[in-house]
Amino acid sequence: MADFSTLINAWYRQNRRVLPWRGISDPYKIWLSEVILQQTRVDQGTAYYLKFIKAFPTINHLANAEEDEVLNLWQGLGYYSRARNMHFSAKLVANELNGVFPTTYKGVISLKGVGEYTAAAITSIAYGLPHAVVDGNVYRVLSRYLAIATPIDSKQGKKEFAEVASAFLDHKNPGDHNQSLMEIGALICLPKKPKCSECPLSNSCVALQKKSQLNFPVKSKKTKVVNRYIHYLVFTDGQNTALKKRTGKGIWEGLYDFPMVEKKEGEELTKKDLESFTFSDFTFDGTFKHILSHQKILATFWQVQVEQVKLVDNQIEIPIHQIEDYPLPQLLIRYIKESRLFGAD
Ligand code: SF4
Repeated sequence: MADFSTLINAWYRQNRRVLPWRGISDPYKIWLSEVILQQTRVDQGTAYYLKFIKAFPTINHLANAEEDEVLNLWQGLGYYSRARNMHFSAKLVANELNGVFPTTYKGVISLKGVGEYTAAAITSIAYGLPHAVVDGNVYRVLSRYLAIATPIDSKQGKKEFAEVASAFLDHKNPGDHNQSLMEIGALICLPKKPKCSECPLSNSCVALQKKSQLNFPVKSKKTKVVNRYIHYLVFTDGQNTALKKRTGKGIWEGLYDFPMVEKKEGEELTKKDLESFTFSDFTFDGTFKHILSHQKILATFWQVQVEQVKLVDNQIEIPIHQIEDYPLPQLLIRYIKESRLFGAD
């Protein structure tokens, strides 16, 4: 019987999706595609990839960009630290490495925001180096194929799966091998409905033989989701509004949002919460639910009428019609698309 790599490679040659970053060996473009595809679906990620490459065709273009410009293009993808880290690393490559992308696994993994998975993907695809990738798709395929019950989020599991992935790796063509395995995870070995009848590994898959595909992969911890209740104060004198750039390590670092008050579950917004703000009238302007990996945000927007937008605490005054020039969290984009203040019908 053909070995693991021969089976998946033959399937890949026939069935892979045509994607703009396939068949290229430019490490910058491979890096960008990998970073975008972490936590993002391929159909959504492709549009961002093309937009990004158009704006920053080389790593030096990215290095020379302003952070707001980078975050603006990333807007809607979430996990903004990915964009900030890429920008930081691009500047490092441009300024300290003469614009030459590192060519070794050690060099690539030393870039900010690049972990084992991304370093293995870049070096195997761009340079043909023998590093096996292990991402969510690979965990799923391998855990089912061998019926490995070690939790994938445990130290032991990470080690064990890295060893198994390396043992299967085709050293002659590691880039295609890695992409084949990830593509099978993305298109065939689906989390809830694996298409085992179409799978090139079906003759030797242990989980399929035991009809236990959905028992794998095993996870030990559940992600804890925190509920947050945010009231946004959208100040307006009819022409302008106030925004504030978010600093610190929380969500949306580097993006802009409106002044806000955060409450606990079941608590209403009170006059006391608003005593540091001066306004004549405020009206309810919608609620939006926004789900992140570890947080569920219930945001209430209040339109606050003022004679003149008064700025406190590093806020900036901006013309209402220019709000989309600023990098904003997706939650705010959804709001401004529906609010009459920002031109919605
Ligand atoms: S046979 Fe089914 S469970 Fe096994 S690897 Fe293929 S799709 Fe996954």
